Amino acid sequence: MDKYTGKALYNGIAIGKILFYKKDNGNIKKSAVDDINGELNRFEKAKEASVRQLKELHKKAVLEVGETGAAIFEVHAMMLQDEDYNESIRNIIIGQGTNAEFAVATTGNNFAKMFAGMDDAYFQARSVDMQDISDRIISNLMGKSFEITLESEPVIIVASEITPSETIRMDKSKVAAFVTHHGSSNSHTAIFARTLGIPALMGVNVKEEWDGKKAVVDGYTGTLFVGPDEDLVRHMKLKQDRDIHDRHLLNEFIGKGTETKRGKKVKLYNNIGSISDIESVILNDAEGIGLFRSEFIYLEKNRFPTEDEQFRVYKKICERMADKKVVIRTLDIGADKKTGYFNLKDEDNPAMGYRAIRICLKEPEIFKVQLRALFRAACYGNLSIMYPMITSTSEMIQIRKLIDEVKGELKKNGAAYSVPEQGIMIETPAAALISDELAEYADFFNIGTNDLTQYILAASYQNEKIDDFYNPHHKAVFRMIQMVINNAHKHGKRVGICGELAGDSSVTKRLVRMGIDELSVAPMMTLKIRKIICEME
Ligand code: PEP
Ligand code: MG
Repeated sequence: MDKYTGKALYNGIAIGKILFYKKDNGNIKKSAVDDINGELNRFEKAKEASVRQLKELHKKAVLEVGETGAAIFEVHAMMLQDEDYNESIRNIIIGQGTNAEFAVATTGNNFAKMFAGMDDAYFQARSVDMQDISDRIISNLMGKSFEITLESEPVIIVASEITPSETIRMDKSKVAAFVTHHGSSNSHTAIFARTLGIPALMGVNVKEEWDGKKAVVDGYTGTLFVGPDEDLVRHMKLKQDRDIHDRHLLNEFIGKGTETKRGKKVKLYNNIGSISDIESVILNDAEGIGLFRSEFIYLEKNRFPTEDEQFRVYKKICERMADKKVVIRTLDIGADKKTGYFNLKDEDNPAMGYRAIRICLKEPEIFKVQLRALFRAACYGNLSIMYPMITSTSEMIQIRKLIDEVKGELKKNGAAYSVPEQGIMIETPAAALISDELAEYADFFNIGTNDLTQYILAASYQNEKIDDFYNPHHKAVFRMIQMVINNAHKHGKRVGICGELAGDSSVTKRLVRMGIDELSVAPMMTLKIRKIICEME
């Protein structure tokens, strides 16, 4: 039995046969063609067929993984139309008199290399997409099906890397797990795996010779066992059965309040980033949305979303949640969430740089568009908003000034609006240390433990090498949380946590005992956390 480790993207156990997935577009031969116009035509037809297929895939993906996840196929359709990409293919066909397959493969490789060499993580991720769209055109040129057929029994898909469109084309009921060498935990493939609830590992040194071998994926520890012995399979089967059984039992907590036996109530909300995620909020019976990461609306576009576009999204969320609470966090762009049209420069320490409220206050025209959209949407439900990365009371004073301007503008336009309840995210040590003073400027606090931990411990959560130093269970993190809770309560304000620590079941009881009022967790964690709280004394 061989054992390999990687980064687990989704907890769960899978037992099955390995299917080593290999792309077969590697052997494109260069051949001379006489009819250059005919070849250009073949390329155009294959491209049109690719666009049609991507539209179909987009529809299928919306149903399977929601609008945010599916957006990648719209991006692919746009990339197919990119003028530089098309021109390069046409130049190779005309200039070298070669077949379209060779021109597409060469251009695809060149562009993929160019993207891979860029500094920006967003553009690096586009390298795989470039390869993906080129493979699609080549398949259409060769008249080959781009479908991926899997065996009848669920298999563990092992590959060097898997593109989003490959993931979507697979029948997920036949996929027990994904194991890949390349890919980041923020890639679309990783997001799909988590949304679909399929155990997945990345960063494993995969080998083609494993094809057909029996294996076990332990998504809790990030381990792949190839050729497991009987004992291990039996042990893992028990763990898997327990998993399924536990998930079933949790359904009994649907429709119940979240309260300890002594009657201490905790509001249990969900973190989401797209309207389509609301289905799982409702399915898991959360009491509201505690963190809507509004930057995803900006990241999905290649230009600034307009006030009306944003208003429609926020209004829909409020209406879909009816009277339940919806907390929308204002734009938190920058650091690891970047998009080209903001023109953000590379920085030495982006997590400590130009991001979130700092951008909003330096470029108030961007911020005011969002505030107007939010104030208009507040008429349609139980909306609150909160501000990320606050470090001082002066930022809150500047925000108040902008709010006055926004109210004036809305009044002048005759728009219906309402000023929602406002909260401050406590995710910098500075905000925690002056939380007694900040309490005056907020209706509630929400502790962002992901950022707070990295700033307290001076350890980036994006650096694999210092994973051991990034420890949200560190004594210093808990002391700071306690300080924020005490300061909030002293001033009669509610305080919640919306970072990953909120969904960490090993500390739920401790947080409740510390006096936390609200927890906002991933939808899949809702019932597990409710059960723990309901069973507390
Ligand atoms: C956090 O920092 O804990 C948080 C919830 O914000 P982000 O979107 O940066 O994870
Ligand atoms: Mg944060």
